[in-house]
Amino acid sequence: SSTKETLAFQTEVNQLLKLMIHSLYSNKEIFLRELISNASDACDKLRFEALTDDALYEGDNNLQVDVEFDAEAGTLTVRDNGIGMNRDEVVANIGTIAKSGTREFFSQLTGDQAKDTRLIGQFGVGFYSAFIVADRVVLTTRRAGMGAEHGVRWESEGTGSYTLETVEVPQRGTEIVLHLREDEREDLLNDWRLRSIVTKYSDHVPLPIRMRKRDDEGKPGEEWETVNKASALWQRSKSEISEDEYKAFYKHVAHDFGEPLAWTHNRVEGKLEYTSLLYVPTKAPFDLWDRDHTHGLKLYVQRVFIMDDAEHLMPRYLRFVRGVVDSADLPLNVSREILQDNRVIEQIRAGSVKKLLGMLEDMAEKRPEDYQKFWDEFGRVLKEGPAEDFANRETIAGLLRFASTHTDTETQTVSLRDYIARMPEGQDKIYYITADSFMAAKNSPHLELLRKKGIEVLLMYDRVDEWLMGNLNEFDGKQFQSVAKGDLDLGAVESEEERKAQEEIETEAKDLVARVKDVLGDKVESVRVSHRLTSSPACIVLGEHDMALYMQQLLKQAGH
Ligand code: ADP
Ligand code: MG
Repeated sequence: SSTKETLAFQTEVNQLLKLMIHSLYSNKEIFLRELISNASDACDKLRFEALTDDALYEGDNNLQVDVEFDAEAGTLTVRDNGIGMNRDEVVANIGTIAKSGTREFFSQLTGDQAKDTRLIGQFGVGFYSAFIVADRVVLTTRRAGMGAEHGVRWESEGTGSYTLETVEVPQRGTEIVLHLREDEREDLLNDWRLRSIVTKYSDHVPLPIRMRKRDDEGKPGEEWETVNKASALWQRSKSEISEDEYKAFYKHVAHDFGEPLAWTHNRVEGKLEYTSLLYVPTKAPFDLWDRDHTHGLKLYVQRVFIMDDAEHLMPRYLRFVRGVVDSADLPLNVSREILQDNRVIEQIRAGSVKKLLGMLEDMAEKRPEDYQKFWDEFGRVLKEGPAEDFANRETIAGLLRFASTHTDTETQTVSLRDYIARMPEGQDKIYYITADSFMAAKNSPHLELLRKKGIEVLLMYDRVDEWLMGNLNEFDGKQFQSVAKGDLDLGAVESEEERKAQEEIETEAKDLVARVKDVLGDKVESVRVSHRLTSSPACIVLGEHDMALYMQQLLKQAGH
């Protein structure tokens, strides 16, 4: 019953293959990391499924990844005894890209090699990276728990299509044979070279990665030896872990080519026992703004991988955080349903958020340049925080950065503490303006009087800002005040004489105001003599609780 079918790759796969081979060539070694990482994921999945069905082990629970090569045949093989795949899974996983946001991703590519390489790194190339070094790839797999006759063979030259057939596979798991391009053989079919790639990229995959032992002449024997450290890095003590090891582990857990910007590693003991290792990436992943964005922290229970999880261990406004949490208090057979309202998870989450925010505060203080990089990349996400995380509102507010009339540049560098420190005597509010662009905020007529008086105003122009300010009433005891809403109360910054002068003008202008109101009728709520303008003759002001103008425009455009 071994019918061989030929199937076409999804368009995006073809695009990815073409692009990847060219733009990632200088990074070609990463193919091995990607294949090992998939093998390790497959072992994790088997271990998890076997918690409730021990038979899946088929009597063999020593999970491992084997790497070997055949110099004469020109092949390199990566083999695991993990969960394996059935035919439908092969079709769904290998040959299509299931990631949401894939189409948008491809539309961002520019043809500029350096830029595209970075984008692809963020996107993650996975299995297809095999084609950077191979011109033919044969994947043979059988899912754990199924009969040997349910094996599947997938084969492709990476040019538009692949074949699929049903074959006998006695051993569960997946074997991938790369037929290397002619000009890659000398470089890669080399024991020393492969071992150094494995230790460079996969030392801390918590699973033995094995290669064959060789005799004095370099001939491979029947015995295998473990090449990597194969330990759970997060369980070792901080003092024993080097910076390079932390960085390499980050690349493994985050599937990122780049380096982490910062990390925090903590062991919590006492009533609750867990270890967390949390990283902040240097660059945002391609799908940071995607609703279905799924990465996040990996949850382990006593070193057993349980699941990749985005929603339970980190709030949405920290969705860029990567890393692991390993708990000693959760049951091994924990399910998503159990995680939903779990007290242990809630405490781990609260503790992890505190650690992470503390790390960001620390970075802001001690490494301001790095903090600025962080802010430019993730600031708009962090601004979702005050609405989502009431308990940490003040801490998050302290981490926010804004553009302001103090610098008058678009870069967001001003903290609320900086602002307060510069407040002149008598000022008791934090003034801000929201607009749909930096230029619109900066040139707003609402700022005229404040500029004249030398009062700093925060210039907000990110989409999320209106939402942010709706959820932030005060900081350090100082209330926020939009300069475009309601009565602009400058408090003690205005002198008694100024106030008197204003009142006189108001009395004088009474008739004019009444006439203007008459003409405009219902189009406005009221007409007032303004104190906020110095050179413009008139401006529109919103009621204290009205939506900002551009929000109204946005809603109108959206058909509301
Ligand atoms: P990712 O690992 O990010 O999901 P990949 O392209 O690396 O993307 O792999 C695609 C999918 O193929 C995996 O999610 C997995 O379902 C499947 N897969 C790849 N390699 C293996 C393997 N060795 N064993 C089982 N499944 C695998
Ligand atoms: Mg992968």
